[in-house]
Amino acid sequence: MLNEAKRIEILNVPVDMIDMEMAAERLAELMKTPGCSLIVTPNSEIIVNAGKDPELMEIIRSADLVIPDGIGLVYASRLLGNPLKERVTGIDFLNWVLDLLEKDGKSIYLLGSRPEAEGSLSVAEIAAYRMKEAFPGLKVAGTHHGYYKEEEEQDIVRDINSSGADFLCVALGSPKQEKFIARYREELGVKAAIGVGGSLDVWAGTVKRAPEFYRKHGLEWAYRFAQQPSRYKRIIALPKFMIKVLLSR
Ligand code: UDP
Repeated sequence: MLNEAKRIEILNVPVDMIDMEMAAERLAELMKTPGCSLIVTPNSEIIVNAGKDPELMEIIRSADLVIPDGIGLVYASRLLGNPLKERVTGIDFLNWVLDLLEKDGKSIYLLGSRPEAEGSLSVAEIAAYRMKEAFPGLKVAGTHHGYYKEEEEQDIVRDINSSGADFLCVALGSPKQEKFIARYREELGVKAAIGVGGSLDVWAGTVKRAPEFYRKHGLEWAYRFAQQPSRYKRIIALPKFMIKVLLSR
C-alpha cells in the first residue's frame, strides 16, 4: 500500500518512492476516491523548473501521486541517501492506466498534441485508435488537440465532462498540462488526471520511443537528443539538475 510508501524530497519537490507495481496499486485506489485525483510524473527538468515556478511547485505538492519519471531522479535519490528502486516512466505508467481502465470498463479522454492536418487525423485521434487496437475493451470517451485558444478552454472542459470520461490524459507538455489540470480540478468530473508530455505522439507513431537498449541503460535522453538535436537545451537540464542536487546535500 502506498499509504506506507515514503515520499522523499528532491530540491524541495516531493517524489513518491514507488515502483511500477506500487504506482499501479495506487492508481486503482485513486480511481475509487472522490474528486479528481492528480497524478504528476516529474523528471529532472520539471524538478528544476518547479524551483523557478512557485505555481508548478504548489501543483506537484498537491498531487496525489508523484511518479519518479527519469533516470536523473534515481541518481539524485541515491545521492540523497534515499535510493528510489527504479524510475517509472510516464509512458509505461500510461500502459497500466489503459490496462486498468479496460479491465474495469472505464473510459479515457485524450487531450493534447497536434491537430488534424490535411488528409490526416489529429495525433490524439490516431493515438486513440492505436490504444484501442492494443486494448480492445478500452473506451475512449473523446479527444481534443492541444493547440486551442485560451478562450476555448471552458468548452474543452465541458466536452470532457459531457463525454462521461473516467480518466483524463493531458499531453500539452509541462508545465502547461499540470496547470490545466490544476486549474480545472474542481470542475472536472473525471476520477483522475495525468500530464503525459509527448506520450500521445509516441502512441500515434509521430515520435519514436527509444529502443530497449537505451531504456534499459537509462539512456533515453541520449536517444531523444539524437532524434531531435533541437532539444539540446532540455538535455543540459540533466547535468544542471545533478549539480543542484549535489549542492543541496
Ligand atoms: N503540445 C500541445 N499544445 C501546446 C504545446 C505542446 O498539445 O501548446 C503538445 C505537443 O504537440 C507534444 C506535447 O504537447 O505532443 C509535449 O511534448 P514534449 O515532447 O515537449 O513533452 P515532454 O518532453 O514534456 O514529455
